[in-house]
Amino acid sequence: MVSSGRYDINSMKQKMIDYHKDEEDHWVAQLACGHFQHVRHDPPWTSRPWVTTAEGRDSMLGFELNCKKCDQGLGPDHK
Ligand SMILES: [Zn+2]
Repeated sequence: MVSSGRYDINSMKQKMIDYHKDEEDHWVAQLACGHFQHVRHDPPWTSRPWVTTAEGRDSMLGFELNCKKCDQGLGPDHK
């Protein structure tokens, strides 16, 4: 891959630092960049069994997700 000096689309990875639930009882990860991202367990489309247990969520803290909001240059999310 040739470096263009800019971030490529796969480079905007942000660590999960905390979680909360939205008003529809879906889990939302809080990312290091200040953005929120849903981490639904909604099989068979989205399988994240770890999000359904406290141990699983704890074990995924620090895991990096691709943040589309960073790619779009959006400001930080608020609860
Ligand atoms: Zn972000």
